[in-house]
Amino acid sequence: MIRQLLWIILLTPYLLQAYTLKGHIVQEQVWRAGETFLSFLHQNKMPLKLYYKLDPEDEKLLMDIRMATTYYIVRDENGQVLQVLLPLSEELQLHISRDLSGKYQFEVIPIIYKTIRKHLVMAFAGIPSKDITKRCGNFDVAIEVEQLFKKVIDFRKIRKGDHLVVLYDEKMRLGKPFGDPIIEAAMIEVRGKPYYRFLALDGRYYDQNGKNAKKSSFIVPCHYNHISSVFTNKRWHPILHRYRAHHGIDYATPVGTPIKAAYNGKVIFAGKKGGYGNVVIIRHPGGYKTFYAHLSRFKTHVGKQVKTGELIALSGNTGMSTGPHLHFGLSRNGRWINPALQITFQGGLRGEKRRAFLQSVKIYLQKIKNLLQSQNKREKDQVSLETIEDRNISDSSDKGGV
Ligand SMILES: [Zn+2]
Repeated sequence: MIRQLLWIILLTPYLLQAYTLKGHIVQEQVWRAGETFLSFLHQNKMPLKLYYKLDPEDEKLLMDIRMATTYYIVRDENGQVLQVLLPLSEELQLHISRDLSGKYQFEVIPIIYKTIRKHLVMAFAGIPSKDITKRCGNFDVAIEVEQLFKKVIDFRKIRKGDHLVVLYDEKMRLGKPFGDPIIEAAMIEVRGKPYYRFLALDGRYYDQNGKNAKKSSFIVPCHYNHISSVFTNKRWHPILHRYRAHHGIDYATPVGTPIKAAYNGKVIFAGKKGGYGNVVIIRHPGGYKTFYAHLSRFKTHVGKQVKTGELIALSGNTGMSTGPHLHFGLSRNGRWINPALQITFQGGLRGEKRRAFLQSVKIYLQKIKNLLQSQNKREKDQVSLETIEDRNISDSSDKGGV
């Protein structure tokens, strides 16, 4: 029954704020700023011991929940919580369910979503981000496009009639766009000059010649012996037999290693954060934040403006940590992203990788060309249609004059 219900929830494409389902109420709620798993349990009259049953890794994941995340609660007619589906990352969610004896169980399970391949072809008419959002219905596509081209294009200089082509994948969960869209190829034509970005197999973007599209801003924040854990949104742990996520890179380094700001910014947090131990958070321009955890000592304070490379702390082993290391996290607009893809080296692709990349670029360029041609044809058709309509109007007014 409970499984069935879960499927009904997952497959229901149009979830509104709240509606009833066989006497049960499904609520769509939003994770508020400052909300914690404990306050969530408290507010929904669920046993607080669920929090204490969490293992350290799950506890860290729960601290990573993005503000404004949409989640679902199923209640019975008395308002008692039967099930919760709470996204922890783009790939994993916490599933809490109440069994017949009234006990709550929880598990971390993959988020079920559909990926839809889409393309956007358009001529700009006014403000670029507004035009893009209006055309494709997803503001995140506009953000991604601006991020990709901001180093080479001044978006204020885009004029009416300049073109944009974007080939991307959009994740859909419960009938709505979910997570970041993945752009595979994009072109902006500014006054006849095209600019390109293509996603390579290494997860980075390059121009049509395989050159690094993004100039790196972030630096590695410390000297380290080795990387003990890489970034992952979802990984099956073969020993623990459960899903894991790791929203950062772990740099194994002795206690007391100087930790440096990865980029210019303002320190917005320096204190304890549960399983992460002592933490510093820095806010940077462009919606980025960096997160430094398990520190032994702070060498900065909240409100301080710091420069790239400036000392902010000493590394340590505080919180839930399996050994001395720095956990380094990076988020953009509240979503955890892989720091390894931002700490890029200048240059570009070489050898076999470059050859394979240029091969796929050829295919993308042809696709973009075809899409632009059909768009131009539509625009022309539109113009001729408008001309006909104009003539009709003048015809009728002519007639009116007779
Ligand atoms: Zn870590």
